[in-house]
Amino acid sequence: MKHTEGMLRDDALKGKTIIVTGGGTGLGRSMTTYFLKLGANVVITSRKLDVLKQTASELEQETGGKVLPVSCDVREYESIEKVLAETEEHFGGFDTVVNNAAGNFISPTERLSHRAFDIVVDIVLRGTYNVTLAAGKKWIEKQQPGNFLNIVTTYAWTGSGFVVPSACAKAGVLALTRSLAVEWAKYKIRSNAIAPGPFPTEGAWSRLLPGDLVKKFDPKNFVPLGRVGEHQELANLAAYLVSDYSAYVNGEVMTIDGGEWLKGAGEFSHLDEIPSQMWDQLEEMRKKK
Ligand code: NAP
Repeated sequence: MKHTEGMLRDDALKGKTIIVTGGGTGLGRSMTTYFLKLGANVVITSRKLDVLKQTASELEQETGGKVLPVSCDVREYESIEKVLAETEEHFGGFDTVVNNAAGNFISPTERLSHRAFDIVVDIVLRGTYNVTLAAGKKWIEKQQPGNFLNIVTTYAWTGSGFVVPSACAKAGVLALTRSLAVEWAKYKIRSNAIAPGPFPTEGAWSRLLPGDLVKKFDPKNFVPLGRVGEHQELANLAAYLVSDYSAYVNGEVMTIDGGEWLKGAGEFSHLDEIPSQMWDQLEEMRKKK
């Protein structure tokens, strides 16, 4: 068995309809692919309808599943209501929302205009609470169970320089996840999150590691396991969290980063740069004391 294989049984998501924001590209596309393979219907939504349509037709061919592409800007509440209405018309309803859409870029914070700050926070935080509120109201009104999976990042709890708008917004999404996990549990609505470390995607790599930065700061060098994530690994975790197998998991954030953030946090973790010859010398010195 390989870590790049699908983990769940073939019909694990049969009968479910899942909305994936940002589902046309990157990790959203990979999660969508696996949800389809497991029998779900998937609605993919983002701003670029041409990208969504292309992805929908490729994934329908690849998996034999059903994909509805609907354009939407998550910053606009009415735009989301339109997605939900089209979903209901097409699939008769929906069970799960994956809040995956995001925007981000690197910059010293003092170089950012307040508008640039707004853009990232609006997509990530406003976009997520917009979608969450619209979907949650529907489920509560219809008295049906629901499930939110929010894609955050490990610096949602540590914070991080040079991506400060994203850090602020993802921390807000984390608070939203945990707050509603408790408040809306009485409506049988679960909320969980995934905090990914580095997973190669066109979007993340081009905005966060532009030009030669990818060579200079190769992400795998910061990961104790010495590699970046495989999309199927994240898709496996996401599929588990949107499936009924995780019915008792609520308010959890699952990190999938090969140990990256802990390495950054551990005071002495950088000592792995000490060669074994030097460890021998240090041991000898200790013995002499
Ligand atoms: P990506 O391919 O750029 O995905 C972002 C998606 O969001 C795009 O499909 C984009 O589509 C959509 N989007 C952006 N603004 C939107 C808006 N206003 N309304 C609706 N959709 C919008 O990048 P990714 O790497 O797969 O990222 C997916 C998620 O994983 C994000 O939440 C990201 O923060 C998280 N993450 C990724 C990594 C990584 O290493 N890749 C690490 C940690 C966390 P349009 O342009 O068509 O709108």
